[in-house]
Amino acid sequence: MKDIRDLFFKNGITRRNGKPLHFNQIREMLQRTFYFGLMTYHGETYEGKHKPLVTKKLFDEVQKVLEKKYNRKPQKHEFAFTGFIKCKECDSFFTAEKHKKFYPKTRGEVEYTYYRCVKKKGVYSQPYLREEELENQLRGLILSVSLSEVWANKLLKMAEKDGKKEKQFAVGELQKLSFSLTELEKKLDKLLESYLEEIVDTESYQKKKEKLLQQKQFLKEKIVEIKTKGLSWLEPLNEFIKEAADAAKIARAKNSCHDLSIMAKTVGSNFFLKDRRLSASFKKGGFDALAAEAPYVPQGKGAASATSRPLSSLYWLQILDLENQLR
Ligand SMILES: [Zn+2]
Repeated sequence: MKDIRDLFFKNGITRRNGKPLHFNQIREMLQRTFYFGLMTYHGETYEGKHKPLVTKKLFDEVQKVLEKKYNRKPQKHEFAFTGFIKCKECDSFFTAEKHKKFYPKTRGEVEYTYYRCVKKKGVYSQPYLREEELENQLRGLILSVSLSEVWANKLLKMAEKDGKKEKQFAVGELQKLSFSLTELEKKLDKLLESYLEEIVDTESYQKKKEKLLQQKQFLKEKIVEIKTKGLSWLEPLNEFIKEAADAAKIARAKNSCHDLSIMAKTVGSNFFLKDRRLSASFKKGGFDALAAEAPYVPQGKGAASATSRPLSSLYWLQILDLENQLR
């Protein structure tokens, strides 16, 4: 671990503050399946399209060494909602703990998870929050920037149609450009012939040639641009629509605290709690537009009862605007 740390440090891979990596950061890196070719997205694993950095065989050997060294399996967060929600009052993270409650006449002993601010020892000015309450608020928040499957599919179709149109247009443009390029080359040939036959003098030949070559370069760059740019907006738009549809599913699923936590971080950031009310800012270029259409109003208990969003003309305008931004 020390060798790896020093090697990283020597090559500029450090913590944000420029100091060498912690051993547990290195350990976490060594456990990432991404490096031998897998991708994990929303808890699901996919075969990545990237070039693996290490072989699976080497990865497995490393895991054996790590297991021997640390004598335990990869750590999992015990609490679903710690590490990303902060106290609005003092900017420190909320932490969680379990407490038992005893109901002598009815349910007997029941264990609850509570979230609280870690500000001062023994003095908590911000009230405790039950995990269920936090879970409901997160559901409401995620639901407020989600898309029903029906609408997601409609939007995906719209995007596909637009993509096709643009592709056709690009094909047309390319044809025009390559025609112009051929014409230009013909002109260059003719110019050379005239020069060789001494119809034009050296100076005007060179001038004309330079002009034509500049035009040629311009056309070539234009062609490369169209070819490489392709439909650069389509992929991120599709991705966003699918995420928003995923959000709807995850917000409604039962026993999905871990997924909720991942989805919350996908759609937003700056999660704050104040007086038991959760707030967040939504990611720009999509989720913020969805949030603007139907602002999330924290309701504490019962927030999850928010229904699937209606789609008004304003919403369509926002989606179209988003599309234009991505173009
Ligand atoms: Zn606090």
